Amino acid sequence: MKRVALITGASRGIGRAIALQLAADGYAVAVNYRTHADEAEALCDRIRQQGGTAAAFGCDVTDEQAVSAMVQAVTQQLGEISVLVHNAGIAQQKLFTDLSADEWHRMMAVHVDGAFYTCRAVLPQMIARHEGNIVLVSSMWGQVGGSCEVHYSTAKAALIGLTKALAKEVGPSSVRVNCVAPGVIRTEMTAGLGEDTLTELAQEAPLCRLGTPEDVAKAVSFLVGDGASFITGQVLAPNGGIVI
Ligand code: NAP
Repeated sequence: MKRVALITGASRGIGRAIALQLAADGYAVAVNYRTHADEAEALCDRIRQQGGTAAAFGCDVTDEQAVSAMVQAVTQQLGEISVLVHNAGIAQQKLFTDLSADEWHRMMAVHVDGAFYTCRAVLPQMIARHEGNIVLVSSMWGQVGGSCEVHYSTAKAALIGLTKALAKEVGPSSVRVNCVAPGVIRTEMTAGLGEDTLTELAQEAPLCRLGTPEDVAKAVSFLVGDGASFITGQVLAPNGGIVI
């Protein structure tokens, strides 16, 4: 039986690439989405056409009950979960002084509450089996802070703290917890920045290019694989060297 990987926010962008990569690595993949059911289903079709196993699960990761129900449904349909990648995310550029409380709380809810709900829902299975891997998707802005993205940077920094603390708590149960902190990656999230800004950001990176979703997916694949069996509580940064 294939091991099972649940990826949140896998209907598009980085999450989609992670789902394709982990399916190629031999996992049965649970594709979480919030609004883009068609894209999630199309991704599952593609994985199945390539001989893999995949199923789509709609759920807003900010909804505690819905996350529990999703984890139950994934377990029933595909089997117990070996890998959780909390990738679902939103972005917003705005002056700190213009942020509403709702905007602040929504940012924390998707990234931080979502990580809490998903990790807490999968961990009992992992701890009982003494086997499991969690990867949280942070950002370079969680490492260095981004102007006009204070709420985003705060949420992404929180994920790094969560990674380190949780890694210590569940390490004795043979569950590893790691984090990726991507640089600037070409997805719908960054498309709104405009080509001029994206070109400038690419030039700022020592490797002189933007990242691709596949660059991040390969880092995740490494972290959950046997080659990383002695690595936990770490932040791996597929970022072209823009933050060193
Ligand atoms: P994206 O293209 O905008 O895709 C975001 C994904 O998250 C979509 O699948 C979306 O689902 C899902 N999502 C959003 N809110 C959700 C919720 N409440 N519940 C469940 N799913 C939700 O973004 P991306 O660029 O691939 O980013 C993926 C992750 O990487 C995010 O955490 C982002 O912060 C992080 N990141 C991105 C970059 C970058 O440069 N792109 C850099 C560093 C870190 P639906 O479409 O179905 O609604």
